[in-house]
Amino acid sequence: TEPRPVWLGTSWKMTKTLAEARAYVEGLGPATVPDGVVAFLLPPLTALHVVRATLPQGSPVLVGVQNAHWAPDGAVTGEVSMHQVRDAGAQVVEIGHSERRDGLGETDETVAAKVAAALDQQLVPLVCVGEPWSVRSEGRAEEHVADQVRRALAHVAPEDLSRVVVAYEPVWAIGAGGRAATPGDVVGVLGRIHATVAALAPGARLRGLLYGGSVSTGNADDLLALGELDGLFVGRAAWTADGFTALLASA
Ligand code: PEP
Repeated sequence: TEPRPVWLGTSWKMTKTLAEARAYVEGLGPATVPDGVVAFLLPPLTALHVVRATLPQGSPVLVGVQNAHWAPDGAVTGEVSMHQVRDAGAQVVEIGHSERRDGLGETDETVAAKVAAALDQQLVPLVCVGEPWSVRSEGRAEEHVADQVRRALAHVAPEDLSRVVVAYEPVWAIGAGGRAATPGDVVGVLGRIHATVAALAPGARLRGLLYGGSVSTGNADDLLALGELDGLFVGRAAWTADGFTALLASA
């Protein structure tokens, strides 16, 4: 069988002007994506167009957004629909990052609605799940994350499970101040995510299962060596073109 691709991508979160976005993409150079790697960039919505326009013609780099609304259209001030982001060139949509769950009203229900809407629009949903430290310290990380995964996939037809990418991002490991997770910290949760998906339909498997949270060139190799993982979702360490290029080289 074909080896599964390695996914490696970054969300810029709420950083970068248009000039900074253009300079970043120019800095990637034309041929930095190794064979077998799916690279993706999730700029702020304001920079989606400039990122697409700056990538070389035929670039394999996927582009996407960090959020979109589940409703097809209508009076939803300040939001954009899955159809609109697809129309603007997005191929991937991040859903349910902990920063949105914690401070911006994202719930398991809105995540599930967004996953279904993204699939309807032929977007790749990149669903973020992960436990806070309080939950891990009580020994409930696996159960908490399995529950988030089940709820996120509540409206996904069995045959569409293989179109969904999940990023396991322990909340305590996100951010420069965070404690990076070790392979030993995450392997149990990753196995539990695979088991949770397989329990939804016989033989079901996600399109990819990624890890995120203080990924750097210092820990990427050890994480990617885990058989349970299909790739890495990176924040800060990939906010420069050189940082992203270095991570691509390790994928
Ligand atoms: C994230 O917030 O999704 C993330 C992975 O951030 P960082 O790599 O900066 O911890």
